[in-house]
Amino acid sequence: MKLVFATNNAHKLDEVRQILGPGFEVVSLAEISCHDDIPETADTFEGNALQKAHWVKDHYGLDCFADDTGLEVTALDGAPGVHSARYAGDHDSEANMRKLLSELENKSDRSAQFRTVVALLLDGKELLFEGIVKGSILEERHGNGGFGYDPVFVPEGYNLTFAEMGPEKNNISHRARAVGKLAEYLKSL
Ligand code: IMP
Repeated sequence: MKLVFATNNAHKLDEVRQILGPGFEVVSLAEISCHDDIPETADTFEGNALQKAHWVKDHYGLDCFADDTGLEVTALDGAPGVHSARYAGDHDSEANMRKLLSELENKSDRSAQFRTVVALLLDGKELLFEGIVKGSILEERHGNGGFGYDPVFVPEGYNLTFAEMGPEKNNISHRARAVGKLAEYLKSL
């Protein structure tokens, strides 16, 4: 089965191809010659993932899946949420983490979760798959691996941040869980 994944992020493509296995051909936006700046203007992960998937379906006529992810912090009423990439600065992880730690100063509840939503458009059907990893936000950064908020996020049941975990992160991550559910569905067809 051939499906477009509405991304050009090489890391995400690799991860998804590995989880789906050889029975599926996953094609990037570049590979369908889509160089559009696809709008992501919804105020939920579900809305953004669907918006991206529908863009590909509407403009290129191809079945497709798309993802949207963010960090939801309990004491901040779910912020940064859909604004995770641009919380303080455009994809500036350092500035984003600085803002997060400053907003959490003097807050005793440090609980948070990463959440990924994958939207699939296939044969006229629209499906959503969710992956969550719960954890907590440290008061300072630990580790150099990963990206985004990884140095301040410790997943439940671990004493290491995502940035200290290495490849083990990919087994338990929000994205892996959402894509795992997508794979389970596609393989059941
Ligand atoms: P995206 O929807 O996958 O592009 O994720 C949006 C933003 O959420 C990223 O720019 C990061 O700030 C944050 N984020 C998503 N996934 C992760 C992760 O696995 N670790 C740390 N930050 C993440």
